[in-house]
Amino acid sequence: MVRMACIDCGQAHFEADTLREMLTLMMPHYFDAHQDIMSGQADEDREAWMGRFTSAFNACLEDD
Ligand SMILES: [Zn+2]
Repeated sequence: MVRMACIDCGQAHFEADTLREMLTLMMPHYFDAHQDIMSGQADEDREAWMGRFTSAFNACLEDD
């Protein structure tokens, strides 16, 4: 099980076994708290965000 904080605010925490599951768990939080990212209005594009998310997830995996 990987424990991970939201990579954009650090205020919400999630636990999941896989990257895909983590992504699914975080979605409601992102719709709620990070509308700019979900709507593509943020400066960072989705691919860059996904890269950041994957790195954070893998870092948590290694800590375990
Ligand atoms: Zn957040």
